[in-house]
Amino acid sequence: MLDKNNEEITEKMLNRASKFAWKSWTIRLNFDVRQAKSGEQPDFRVLIRTPENDERGEMDDNTIMYHYFPIMDVDHPLRGLCVINPNFYYTVNGEGVPMNLIDPENYSPGTHVRGSTIDLDGVLRHEFGHGIGLSHDPEPGNTMSTPYMILEDFLQPRDIMRGAAKYVKQNMSESDLQRWLKWLKSRSEDY
Ligand SMILES: [Zn+2]
Repeated sequence: MLDKNNEEITEKMLNRASKFAWKSWTIRLNFDVRQAKSGEQPDFRVLIRTPENDERGEMDDNTIMYHYFPIMDVDHPLRGLCVINPNFYYTVNGEGVPMNLIDPENYSPGTHVRGSTIDLDGVLRHEFGHGIGLSHDPEPGNTMSTPYMILEDFLQPRDIMRGAAKYVKQNMSESDLQRWLKWLKSRSEDY
């Protein structure tokens, strides 16, 4: 379920990023995720909330996103909830962009100043890791490490190992796996 209360992160962008982020987990671990049909109660939801309008009071200026750990009670309002702070500038690759895109009030088009952006599906991949029950990894360089400003393109061996301790490893042939990894790698061309 998506929240349309945001002009910058479009529903299309969020749908695609969520699909890529989930796919990177489901090609490695033995569970599957699909988009909920209308009327269905989804297991996972993404909302967009600023520090000012987050009903749960969890969002602050330094929080990019947060996700609740698994909650057993299917009617619990926080179950499967991921919340995104729209005050960051999200892109598909996390690369810098001209500052006028980020802050049009203070920078004019043609500025040579560049500002940093957040890799949307990369951060979602980390958040969905929380959503399936993984805590932060104290070792740097993994999807579940913090700080996660620098993200690897794919899940790292430790992420897969930690996930496989909760869910069984996905049983996929090496050639199928390589096909999916290639598909994930080419994701930026799809946007
Ligand atoms: Zn985290």
